[in-house]
Amino acid sequence: MVVIEPSFEIDEKGRVICQTHSKYPHFIKPAMTPSEDRQMEKQLTCISCSHYLNDDCYFPKSEIDKIELDRLNRSRFQCNLCGNKIDLMLTIMQKIYLEVRFNIDMPLICCDCYSSLAEKRYIKNNNNRIILSILFYLPIVIFMITLFRPTIVVIFISFLFGIVLKIIFKRIGSQSLFIFDLLQGRRFYKKYFRNKDKVNSP
Ligand SMILES: [Zn+2]
Repeated sequence: MVVIEPSFEIDEKGRVICQTHSKYPHFIKPAMTPSEDRQMEKQLTCISCSHYLNDDCYFPKSEIDKIELDRLNRSRFQCNLCGNKIDLMLTIMQKIYLEVRFNIDMPLICCDCYSSLAEKRYIKNNNNRIILSILFYLPIVIFMITLFRPTIVVIFISFLFGIVLKIIFKRIGSQSLFIFDLLQGRRFYKKYFRNKDKVNSP
């Protein structure tokens, strides 16, 4: 049986596209409307590929299913630069493929960070999100203090409540507002991208 080797490219929006995906010609169709573009993004997954259905891809069907399950249910695959959950499956497949096939450690980068790197506004975005992450607690603390009394216990419970809300945000909305993720992303940026124009492998 002929095994189809994946081959990846990154489009101008930072989306990873597989050149051997059976819908590849559709993915690179020019001049799409915003709704066509969103529809196309939903299909940027191995599940919509005939090689997955025929089980003749380099990645066996069972392994693709496992990766997809991990992507949906765990935060194992998160952007190295901001901590957001990676929404596009092919971004993850590219990383795994380069790792297992060529022993190349490729960073996982979400589309937002990809464009912020290209437009040299990563640090500005990161600063804004750190402020947002700190501000996130303020309304919760004020609300709790108004409801109860300004004691250490109330403030502590407010922070705990904030952490639970952040976990829910990250799981459902993919957005990470954890200051730890953001600072870690900043360190990653300084180490690998500060003096580079394009996204390169570390
Ligand atoms: Zn990111």
